[in-house]
Amino acid sequence: MQLGIRGDKSGRIQASRAWIDGAFHPADIVFEHGVVTAIESPAAFVRGAAIVPDDAVLLPGLVDSHVHVNEPGRTEWEGFRSATLAAAAGGVTTIVDMPLNSVPPTTTPEALTVKRAAAKPAAYVDVGFWGGAVPGNLGRLGPLHAAGVYGFKCFLSPSGVDEFGHLDRSQLAAAMEEIAALGSRLIVHAEDPALLHEHAALGRGYAAFLASRPPASEASAIDAVIAEARRTGARAHILHLSDARSLPAIRAAKADGIALTVETCPHYLTIAAEEIPDGAAEFKCCPPIREASNRDLLWSGVVDGTIDAIVSDHSPSTVDLKRSGDGDFGLAWGGIAGLQVGLSAVWTEARSRGIPFETILPLYTTGPAAVAGLDDVGVLEVGAPAHFTAFGLDDPFEIRAEELLHKNPITAYDRRLLTGRVRRTWLHGRSIYDVTEGGAGAAPQFRGRPRGRLLSAAVHTVA
Ligand code: ZN
Repeated sequence: MQLGIRGDKSGRIQASRAWIDGAFHPADIVFEHGVVTAIESPAAFVRGAAIVPDDAVLLPGLVDSHVHVNEPGRTEWEGFRSATLAAAAGGVTTIVDMPLNSVPPTTTPEALTVKRAAAKPAAYVDVGFWGGAVPGNLGRLGPLHAAGVYGFKCFLSPSGVDEFGHLDRSQLAAAMEEIAALGSRLIVHAEDPALLHEHAALGRGYAAFLASRPPASEASAIDAVIAEARRTGARAHILHLSDARSLPAIRAAKADGIALTVETCPHYLTIAAEEIPDGAAEFKCCPPIREASNRDLLWSGVVDGTIDAIVSDHSPSTVDLKRSGDGDFGLAWGGIAGLQVGLSAVWTEARSRGIPFETILPLYTTGPAAVAGLDDVGVLEVGAPAHFTAFGLDDPFEIRAEELLHKNPITAYDRRLLTGRVRRTWLHGRSIYDVTEGGAGAAPQFRGRPRGRLLSAAVHTVA
């Protein structure tokens, strides 16, 4: 691999396969001051250009619209520096941070200011922010919207942290009306608490935990979101879909013209309940990872386009919290850390199912960008930021939790053997990560200080 650009914000990348307009093309991509200025047919080698070799592809920087950074307040769980380093190593150049698990939660403009101050000196990739819709700020979402959050997250069941309350059905209705009037979007953790069987302790067997969060709880909550989106016209998004049996309802709502999007996560697509060992709380998340038959149906939703995005739901905690209760699935913290490995894990699974790489790429690029209303990322086109990822389709990648760059060395992907790995990542035209630098076996290289930018949603007022 030839290395050309050394931190310049202007330069050129030549690739025999670059992801442009939904297909791979040979391309010679020119960027100036961090912005793509021309995409040319490949000519002879241009001195100083970076070359993406033929066994790799050039992608736009990936987008992950569902990341819990937790700083400030629970920075020992995850922080902006470690999370954004993990993102860069996973080819992700834009993340949108969730409003909870940090303290304060992002439910007021003042809290957003605190978040941004924490992120600014530490972000290696670009960061946008979701706001929170909680019982205490309903009716007062406007100032947070005006401050530039990309939308509002709510829970319909307990969130797991006391400071971020969940909405009941009448509060959901009120939130949707308010958000419709603002022209924002509501992103929903959709589990119906009336159908959950939450207990303090459930034991070390995964089956009891799975049974405590049945598919009907997701289906009921999703039906409620669809009904309110239909009634109010608000844009709504279903977070981390696990229950594939809800796909027909989502498909039908979309066909009816309801402004609804849905995401799923790598762990739902690559892991099955039957494989989870007793006491392995690193696999605990809510909604839960379900059976292999459900996983097959989720893949059908990826292939047919019902599912818009695959996002990490990177939600780490300390190892102690994940291990609390000595492997009791009721007591351990729920959340999976996997920001760095998503595309590799999903591509490995897709390949084993005979699903082309091209099928999953929109769900890592334009899909999550649309979920958050980010309109100039996830694409290689003139005028877009010069964010790129070089991905080696056949590169072996053995996951070792202790080598991943997020803060706490625990992940559901530990010791997995994957195929396909991010080799290099560029942000605003700068090479910020290069796994090949220094030769085989060398530690991956990061260049320079954190240069990620803080993103704000353009505020459109609704007439
Ligand atoms: Zn989450």
